[in-house]
Order: sequence, then structure tokens, then C-alpha cells
Amino acid sequence: MGLDVYTYVVFGKRVPRSTIKAVVNQRGCTHDIDIKQNFCPVCGKPVWTENPHDLLDSMNSGALSYFYPYHNTDDVIIGFALAKTDSHRIREPDMLEVLSPEPHMIKEIVQFFKDNDIALDVSELKTYAFSYFND
Ligand SMILES: [Zn+2]
Repeated sequence: MGLDVYTYVVFGKRVPRSTIKAVVNQRGCTHDIDIKQNFCPVCGKPVWTENPHDLLDSMNSGALSYFYPYHNTDDVIIGFALAKTDSHRIREPDMLEVLSPEPHMIKEIVQFFKDNDIALDVSELKTYAFSYFND
């Protein structure tokens, strides 16, 4: 008996997931036409449309990343994992040693928020700890 537990310690900032959006151009239809035109001569749709693109989907784990610790909101934490436990069946109290955030992490987070036009004060960055459970 026991629980499968994954515990993370993450340094970063909590934001609503919906704020992390960018707009990319996407083809408006699938007709094989000259893409320099404004409208498709076959179906009349715009050749290009602006589609919201979720930047979070393009972020890699292991580097600046995002975490979903919240059950009741759509919020995410953008940041770096400072420590995490391996998944295992817990039989006794577990312990994590957590290093301080490194200067390059702060730099990368600041740059990410700047690139995406999201307000960020460095004093808002926090260290979060959370666990996922699986029975
Ligand atoms: Zn078309």
C-alpha cells in the first residue's frame, strides 16, 4: 500500500494560462494557390488568418517550462524546476534538497515575460512546492 507521489519545487511566476498567447499566421484554407494573394480564388476565404497560438505548447521541459499544480483554476507556473522527487511508493517521509534559483533562471524568466508582453516584477518571482498523487 502507499501512494505514488511526485513532488516538485518550482521557481517562477503564477499566471493564467490564457495570458500566454501569441498570434501566428495560418493558412485560411487548404487550396493549392498563390499564397501572396489576400483571398483564395477557389473558395473566397482569406489566404492567411491570425490564429492564437499557445506558446506553452512550444516550451521544452528541462529548461524554462510550465507547471499545472492547480486543480480549480487554469493557472500555470512559468519557471524552472529546482528539485523534484522520483515517483515511488511512499512508505516514510520524503525529503528534497532545494538549491537557490540561479541568476540565468531569473534572466530567462524575465526575458520570456518581456518577449510575450506580460508584466513582471522580479520581486513577484516565488518558489512553489506542490505534489501530484496517484493511487
Ligand atoms: Zn480556398
